[in-house]
Amino acid sequence: MNAPMLRPATGLLVLLAISSCASAPPTTLDESLDLIRERALRSHVRWLADDERAGRMTGESGYEDSAQYVVEQFMHMGLEPAGTDGWYQQVPLRSYKAIGDTAEFVIHAEDDDLGYTYRDDFSVAADPVDASTRVRAEVVYVGYGIHAPELGYSDYEGVDVSGKIIAGFSGAPESFEGLQRAYYSSSTNKREEAVARGAIGTITLRSRKAEQRSPWDEMKARIGIRPSMTWVSETGEAARYFPELRGSVSLSPKAAEALLANAPLSYEDTLSAMEAGEVRSTPLGIEVTIARDTEHGELSSPNVIGLVRGSDPELADEYVVFTAHLDHMGVREIDGEKKIYNGAYDNAVGVALMLETARVFAAVPPRRSVLFVALTGEERGLLGSDYFVNNPVVPVESIVANVNLDMPLFLYPVADLVTFGSESTSIQPLADDAAAAEGFVFSPDPLPEETRFVRSDHYSFVRAGVPAIYLTPGFKSADDKVDGESLYRAFLDKHYHEATDDLDQPIHWDSAVRFARAHARIGYALASVDDRPAWDAGSFLGQRFATP
Ligand SMILES: [Zn+2]
Repeated sequence: MNAPMLRPATGLLVLLAISSCASAPPTTLDESLDLIRERALRSHVRWLADDERAGRMTGESGYEDSAQYVVEQFMHMGLEPAGTDGWYQQVPLRSYKAIGDTAEFVIHAEDDDLGYTYRDDFSVAADPVDASTRVRAEVVYVGYGIHAPELGYSDYEGVDVSGKIIAGFSGAPESFEGLQRAYYSSSTNKREEAVARGAIGTITLRSRKAEQRSPWDEMKARIGIRPSMTWVSETGEAARYFPELRGSVSLSPKAAEALLANAPLSYEDTLSAMEAGEVRSTPLGIEVTIARDTEHGELSSPNVIGLVRGSDPELADEYVVFTAHLDHMGVREIDGEKKIYNGAYDNAVGVALMLETARVFAAVPPRRSVLFVALTGEERGLLGSDYFVNNPVVPVESIVANVNLDMPLFLYPVADLVTFGSESTSIQPLADDAAAAEGFVFSPDPLPEETRFVRSDHYSFVRAGVPAIYLTPGFKSADDKVDGESLYRAFLDKHYHEATDDLDQPIHWDSAVRFARAHARIGYALASVDDRPAWDAGSFLGQRFATP
């Protein structure tokens, strides 16, 4: 843990504070919305995405400094500390990393054992608890590994995976509608299904698309350089741990071909079947061994939590929770070259927007209380948010809604917004009004294959039954001469989770300000309406997540 340092930004803040005190303080939401200024947003992004923050890696000093920065901002804005230790809620974490030399993947062919090489042919998931694991079992191909009876789809029909290792693809069939596709793509949901059916290991095959986007031969240098992480409970239990799964590997296309060489269907067959959404599950008639040793470490990293107390005594014990993950991917040394993953869009921009939203609420508090939470460990598997909902600083039943900000791209003048889940809640009509007031329309998710619904922190709240809203800009550019879609896609292809997501990325600040204002309006409406937000009980998500 690093001692907080004095930093140049502090002086600038004092100036900003003085200049905004010069005019009369706002008394209405509309007046307080004008407190959201481009200059402050820029200054937060510049600070958080600076090389000095070293990519804000969970558990490292660049993250600690960033957490301290958020504390200073909250203090200046007049929020109250609402963590378990002042502004902080420390999240106890365990890191776990496979020891490369010990990793084994062996195909037991009829007359020979074929051993494969770690990194060149396969990657292996480390075990969060056990120091050494080894499993040998038959392999059953299960497509996507999805059981969705209400959609008339099951990869498990007619195959028995009890005591077996399952092999299949990540994702879900294209024919699934957006939220269902995302839900069934979730690897946690898939593991639950596999374990319930008695599976004892997993093999992940690589799709043509994944191979196109980042070929195994380029990707392999990154395998195993960073430990995985999970959070641990007070009693030392690793969260979301499936002890039944004794080994999990991902295979290079070459190793996948070998695995399926004498199977009822070839690797090519599985690729075509998965793309067509055809169920072709079958035992492969072959055994494999997966083994590896794991080294473990203990650490902790804070969520930063600030409170704006509600103005209505009747409703002040209910909470709207704003979230934005503060962590990113740190520094990596790949082939001797050191790269800083500054994470400007992911998620310095989201944190900046949340900070300026907090300023609005602090100036004119709404009826309900509002928590602003800068989350740790998002990039390591939504850890800070999962910990928060399982160890909430206020009763989880008193949390009426979550508003999440993560990697909003302002690469062009943004005209539309996309939502991930709020359309199944009573939040959506409020969001429609808020978006319209700031000149946005809503569009359907143009990238359902990205399954973003399960890939950001609002999903932790959803799983805890809390209605949530998470918005990103869509493809529509307000400037006819600018092709929003191609800029958006180019960012995902070239800069998402790359060292080039840095301060050189263009940011259309006017869009950022309007986006922040829209979120402030949504949060304010949620914190002010008489009835707390609710799930649409008949919807796919309502049926799964609404708490009675
Ligand atoms: Zn990310």
